Amino acid sequence: MKRLDLKDLTLEELKKAVLDLGEPGYRALQLSSWIYKRGISDPETMSNIPLKLREKLFNHYYLSCPEISGHQKSIDGTEKFLFKLFDGKFIESVLIGSEDRRTLCLSTQVGCKIGCRFCASGKGGFKRNLSSAEILNQVLHAKETAGSGLTNYVFMGMGEPLENYENLTKALVIMNHDDGIKIGARRITVSTCGIIPGIERLSTLGLQINLSLSLHATEDRLRSSLIPVNRKYPIKDLIEACDKFRKSKNRVITLEYLILKGINDTRSDSKRLASIANSLGAKINLIQYSPVRGAGFPETTHEEALIFEKCVRRFCANVTVRESKGKDIAAACGQLAGRSA
Ligand code: SF4
Repeated sequence: MKRLDLKDLTLEELKKAVLDLGEPGYRALQLSSWIYKRGISDPETMSNIPLKLREKLFNHYYLSCPEISGHQKSIDGTEKFLFKLFDGKFIESVLIGSEDRRTLCLSTQVGCKIGCRFCASGKGGFKRNLSSAEILNQVLHAKETAGSGLTNYVFMGMGEPLENYENLTKALVIMNHDDGIKIGARRITVSTCGIIPGIERLSTLGLQINLSLSLHATEDRLRSSLIPVNRKYPIKDLIEACDKFRKSKNRVITLEYLILKGINDTRSDSKRLASIANSLGAKINLIQYSPVRGAGFPETTHEEALIFEKCVRRFCANVTVRESKGKDIAAACGQLAGRSA
């Protein structure tokens, strides 16, 4: 029988696994404490779990541990981790620092089906979804590296999180749960290119997480050419779904907007962007485009970003230019490709 990874079980399933072995339920709490609070993957270390239970348990289950195949540090302090998965595939996560926060950018898929024109993650096609264990391992590894300095968690790495809904939400619940990693839901952001059914399901999930929408264009024709899934989920429907999310969670939505020189940075674009943000009470993050090989878009300079910001600000005050970090190690927005060195 194929053994299962304990990190792929919900905390309820972990308890059931312990009960099914004829052991008291509190052993599940002891296990989750070793796995998620102390980040331990070696059963030998779990000193308060009787040897007999460990033997029985690990006949049926195992505990994966992150295998780091590469670690790069940018001149601006951004760190990129390359994880080798059990089947030889690779994913990346990025640790981004600023004065008052350290943010972990997490991947949810190997590759991506969506194929946004400006993004490296979709260029090699879609390989597979990450399991919840593989998502959680990125978090546990970063916590071990950054310790208590880690403040925010964003699902903006490789893949479209809402295309891997089940494993994403299982990981989210464990991340947030008191008996799991215990990260405040408000510190967690799920970013989507606009998968409406996923946004609707996320609205009903009992976690006060944040939603970020990768908008990048304000008219369907342009957006569909940049983000093909826009043909299925056009802007108007997307705004409606985001509005429902905002009302269900009482959280401010963020609109991510990559500035693509000569493509989506006209005065009309700025006006439409502001209007969408105002209708949603959303904040706007403008992002300087960092080059991706083969994408064919030029890099956006900081000056160009500031000019566009000024245009947007005339119509909407809640706008900032997000500093592009880690581009010298291909760790900036849209540059993650999961390549081994
Ligand atoms: S931007 Fe996101 S959704 Fe689009 S291809 Fe890249 S990873 Fe996929």
